[in-house]
Amino acid sequence: MTIRISDNLDAFLETIPSSVELVAVSKTKPNDMIMEAYQAGQRHFGENKIQEMTSKWETLPKDIQWHMIGHVQTNKVKYMAPYVSLIHGVDREKLLNEINKQAFKNNRIIDCLLQVFIANETTKFGLSPNEILPLIERSLSLKNIRVVGLMGMATFTQDNEQIENEFKVLKELFFLAQKKYNQISILSMGMSNDYQIAINQESNMIRIGSKIFGNRD
Ligand SMILES: *Cc1c(COP(=O)(O)O)cnc(C)c1O
Repeated sequence: MTIRISDNLDAFLETIPSSVELVAVSKTKPNDMIMEAYQAGQRHFGENKIQEMTSKWETLPKDIQWHMIGHVQTNKVKYMAPYVSLIHGVDREKLLNEINKQAFKNNRIIDCLLQVFIANETTKFGLSPNEILPLIERSLSLKNIRVVGLMGMATFTQDNEQIENEFKVLKELFFLAQKKYNQISILSMGMSNDYQIAINQESNMIRIGSKIFGNRD
């Protein structure tokens, strides 16, 4: 079966408010599928492996904004520092320091989101909610990064009420941080299976893979 990416994209965009930024998650998908979305007007793409993202960046149009949405190993930051647009999964201070160092080497300021652990699954990464405000405060001294918001992943479950409650925790933390720090503007939450709940909880950036590109193997 041929998947019409541009049809999926158009249909999907109709279901979300225009104030919500769509990051099309293209991990494991080939360049020609990304180009189909690109030709339909999509510019923000998300990947979870630095090596894969870098080889796509090398080949594909340079006005694509690349989002690193996966867990980041400190020793691989240098490969994406020249071009990455937003790093969603910052879950430790050491990583923030390394991003700052590599951004400096590239004469850039790299935007980052702090990943907050909101799920009740040990498979997910993230800082605990009480670490967030102090870390944003300390990040102000790092001149080559800018913490611009928060990211989180809900538990993978059919229980919508649980998902909603987890997103609520993140939303409240986001508004608290935004009140204190002007630079906080992005709330990245919601994937193919839970983006509607996330948008109801005021997410303004969703990361959507399978609903646009089809299921991954
Ligand atoms: C893969 C991935 C997504 C997209 O998942 P879908 O269910 O395909 O929409 C979103 N966020 C993160 C962090 C991911 O790893």
